[in-house]
Amino acid sequence: MKAVRFYAPGEIRLEEVEIPQIAPDEILVKVKTALTCGTDVKMYKRGHPKVKPPITLGHEFAGTVAEVGETAADRFKVGDRVAVANSAPCNNCVFCKMGKQNLCDRLLETLIGFSVDGAFAEYIRVPARIVQQNTYKMPENVPFEEAALLEPLACAINGNDAANIKLGDFVVIIGSGPIGLTHLQLAKLKGASKVIVTDLKPERLRIARSLGADVVVDASKEDQVSRVKELTGGLGADVVIEAVGLPQTWELAFKLTRKAGTVLFFGGCPSGSRVTFDTERIHYEDLTLKGIFHHTPLTVLKAFKLISSGRFRGRPLITETMQLSNVEAALQKMGKGESLKIAIKP
Ligand SMILES: [Zn+2]
Ligand SMILES: [Zn+2]
Repeated sequence: MKAVRFYAPGEIRLEEVEIPQIAPDEILVKVKTALTCGTDVKMYKRGHPKVKPPITLGHEFAGTVAEVGETAADRFKVGDRVAVANSAPCNNCVFCKMGKQNLCDRLLETLIGFSVDGAFAEYIRVPARIVQQNTYKMPENVPFEEAALLEPLACAINGNDAANIKLGDFVVIIGSGPIGLTHLQLAKLKGASKVIVTDLKPERLRIARSLGADVVVDASKEDQVSRVKELTGGLGADVVIEAVGLPQTWELAFKLTRKAGTVLFFGGCPSGSRVTFDTERIHYEDLTLKGIFHHTPLTVLKAFKLISSGRFRGRPLITETMQLSNVEAALQKMGKGESLKIAIKP
């Protein structure tokens, strides 16, 4: 079969490799759609100290079951349409026991596209833990492109839960990429009275509008702090979600928040980044600053429900379709911000 293998930063190759063998508690999935993600772009550009190349990239995918191990046969059969998350927790380590399965000490053991060969390939082996906890049969009416959003949606839901948006809240989302557009939809579903989305690119802001943003702010032309102050009667937002991943936008998120408000830092900054916050504001203004990472089986379940019920609109997050032979071009395009997610069809 064909697979897109990562060898070193800036070096990926489309290769002919063996179809993976599965263990009795695993399944083999024929990939129908794999989506590009910012994480793939980072891996392509910079690699990762814990990744041992070569490895097949791609971790957001959906497809049909092509082979089922003996002990997985009670849950899946050949031909099932499935969406699969990119990892599953061990449920035995101290963080799993604390209820923080997103921080499982053994996460890397089953991390698809990182330690397990990924989905920019014709077939993918799904490790047992993921088969048991984070693989879902999708209804016929859900297209593979939307089913493939299971994992990024599960991460965003984990963030949305942490942000604790309440009925009537005024929410600001910094960044109108796939993650920001996902948070926009979740904030609306949680009952925010107004959601403002900011970005530098007008075409992304148009998508935010079409997905229900009440106000969009073109950060290349308008001052985001004064605009948000103006829209909130000088107060600032109840909840601000940073969905860019830069130190400047982390600091901006802090400035846009009202007294006793919450800032959710969702976008991961380049490693080694430092930010500066006014401690006086944090102390005297009761601010809540939250970080969040990854997903849990519960947020994957919630993502499955939102996708299969049609309450989450995934299609607008996918701007084009390419073949396996074009993954490198797709990652470059995404890296330049010229595209939202790109659907790869093996
Ligand atoms: Zn991803
Ligand atoms: Zn664990």
